[in-house]
Amino acid sequence: TLILGLESSCDDSAAALVTSDRRIIAQAVIGQNSAHQPYGGVVPEIAARAHVEVLPGLIEQVMAEAGVRPAQLGAVAATAGPGLIGGVMVGLLAGKGLALATGKPLIAVNHLEGHALSPRLTDPELAFPYLLLLASGGHCQLLEVRGVGHYRRLATTIDDAAGEAFDKAAKLLGLPYPGGPAIEALAAQGDAAAVPLPRPLVGSGEPHFSFAGLKSAVQRAAASGAHEPADVAASFQQAVIDCLVDRTRLALERSNARTLVVAGGVAANTSVGDALRRLAQQHGRAFTSPPAWLCTDNAAMIAWAGAERFAAGLRDGLDAPARARWPLDDTADAVRGAGV
Ligand code: ATP
Ligand code: FE
Repeated sequence: TLILGLESSCDDSAAALVTSDRRIIAQAVIGQNSAHQPYGGVVPEIAARAHVEVLPGLIEQVMAEAGVRPAQLGAVAATAGPGLIGGVMVGLLAGKGLALATGKPLIAVNHLEGHALSPRLTDPELAFPYLLLLASGGHCQLLEVRGVGHYRRLATTIDDAAGEAFDKAAKLLGLPYPGGPAIEALAAQGDAAAVPLPRPLVGSGEPHFSFAGLKSAVQRAAASGAHEPADVAASFQQAVIDCLVDRTRLALERSNARTLVVAGGVAANTSVGDALRRLAQQHGRAFTSPPAWLCTDNAAMIAWAGAERFAAGLRDGLDAPARARWPLDDTADAVRGAGV
C-alpha cells in the first residue's frame, strides 16, 4: 500500500510517499529557518502562511518524482497535532481535500506517534514493546511503546523540552536557530568538563526531566565572560546527556522492554545517541535510533505512522479535528484539555 504523508506542525513543510513494506518512494522538505530568523523563534502566523504557499508544490513534487497518480494512493496521512494550530490546519485540510477528491481513507496522525514509530521505518527488526526516549523541540518523554496506538507515558519534563534547552542555550551563545546542530558543532571543539553546570533531577526517584535550571546556569556562565563559548557548549551538551542517561536508566530498570530507542530531533545528536547506546549495552538491552534525517521533522515518519495505522485497520473521518495539544498516552482522550 502506498501512503502519502503530510507534515506541517511546526516550521517544516514536508510531503513523502512511503509503502507499507518500508520503501521511501519520494520525499521533500522545505524548512522556514530564514523566515523566522529575524524574530529569534518560530512565528506561528508566518509559519502557517508559508505552509499554505509551499505544501501544494511539495505534494505535486513527490507525486511527479514517483510517477504516481492520486488514484494509486492507498491512503492519505496528515499530521493532526500537536503543534502550531494554524500550520496543523493547513496540512490536515490539504490531506482531507486529497482524501475527499480521491475517495481514499484519511489517517489523522499524532506527530508524536510519527516520531515514536519512525525507528520501525528503517529498522524492520524493531518489535513491540520498546522503551522510547522521545526528545524533541517540544517534548521530552519516556514512553513504553506497546503497539500501534498503545503508548504508556512513564515520564515527562516538568519545564523545558530537551530540544528547547538546546535552542535556548544556543541563543545565549549567539548561535543560530535551531540550536541543536549549532551546539553540537561548537561542542566538538570544547572541553565538556570546563564549566561546572547542574544536572537537574539526576538521582531523583521518578524518571522526570527538567532543563530550566540548566538554561539559567548557562546564562550565568555565558554572561560571566569567563569561559570559551565552545567550552560552555560542550559542558552544556554533556549536562543534557547526563540527565537523559540518568533518567532513562531509571525507566529502563523499571521496564522489561528488550530494546531502548531514542527518537525526535535531539536524537540526531551523535553524542546523545552514543551515550544511550552505551546505557542500553550496560543493561543488556538492544538499542536503535533512526538516521538523523528521520529524527528531525519530516513527512516520511508521518506517512509511515499512517501505514502502520492503516495496517491496523484505523481510519479517520473527514471531521478529524486539528489539535494544538494531543498527548500520546492511551488515556489521552480522558485527559485532553486538562493541561496535560
Ligand atoms: P515536537 O516534535 O516536540 O513537536 P519539533 O517537531 O519542533 O517538536 P523536532 O523537529 O522533532 O521538534 O526536533 C527539533 C529539535 O531538535 C530542536 O529543538 C533542535 O534544536 C533539536 N535538534 C536538532 N538537531 C539536533 C542536534 N544535532 N543536537 C541536539 N538537538 C538537536
Ligand atoms: Fe517533531
